[in-house]
Amino acid sequence: MHLRGDLHTHTTWSDGGASMAEMTAVAQALGHDYLAVTDHSPRLKVARGLSRERLLAQWEEIDELQEQRDIRILKGIEVDILSDGALDQGPDMLARLDVVVASVHSRLDDDEATMTRRMVAAVSNPHTTVLGHCTGRKRRSDGTWRSESRFDADLVFTACEMFGVAIEINSRPDRADPRLELLELANDIGCLFAISTDAHAPDQLGHLPLGAARAEEAGIHPDRIITTWPVDELLRHANRHR
Ligand SMILES: [Zn+2]
Ligand SMILES: [Zn+2]
Repeated sequence: MHLRGDLHTHTTWSDGGASMAEMTAVAQALGHDYLAVTDHSPRLKVARGLSRERLLAQWEEIDELQEQRDIRILKGIEVDILSDGALDQGPDMLARLDVVVASVHSRLDDDEATMTRRMVAAVSNPHTTVLGHCTGRKRRSDGTWRSESRFDADLVFTACEMFGVAIEINSRPDRADPRLELLELANDIGCLFAISTDAHAPDQLGHLPLGAARAEEAGIHPDRIITTWPVDELLRHANRHR
């Protein structure tokens, strides 16, 4: 399958290890049509989440950098799904972004009903484009895996399908989120998907084929993967409810 870009990446604006200039140069060299810069939202203080003011400043840098790049730089955010399912940035700011990846980073051990309510609220938000690393599974440095969050996958994925929110296939080897059975369930429900790297460094931008392999393993048709779509079609889709 031909993946045209990446919808989930971090820079030194939050907890990434490389500047936007470096990340976009590498993405351009990889042949991407676009790269979405999706740094963290304010509540994630450990990752230097961007306040409203810093997000506005980042947009200025994107506009300047865009003049020097052939690759399309998309203004994005990885916005925290808060404990009540609200998103951690003002709706006026979210409305001005090209893409919004909504992810859970706090209270990963909420009970099933609470986590389901949070996730359904987040994917029914008109600004949400992608549900990021939905189970929160992560491989620790000792090789063991942090357990997955518990939620009613049928309900959450049905909401994703209803509201047109793509489920992220996170390509990072230490996430590989969600696992195969959940991808197959989401595929049966008729969901859209986004294959992204969640790169925090330039070399991690090369991880997309790992996500693509998992999509193929789950039998997902490329047309259902929004990162195979032309960028204008992708942006029209992101704006469908705004
Ligand atoms: Zn995340
Ligand atoms: Zn991320």
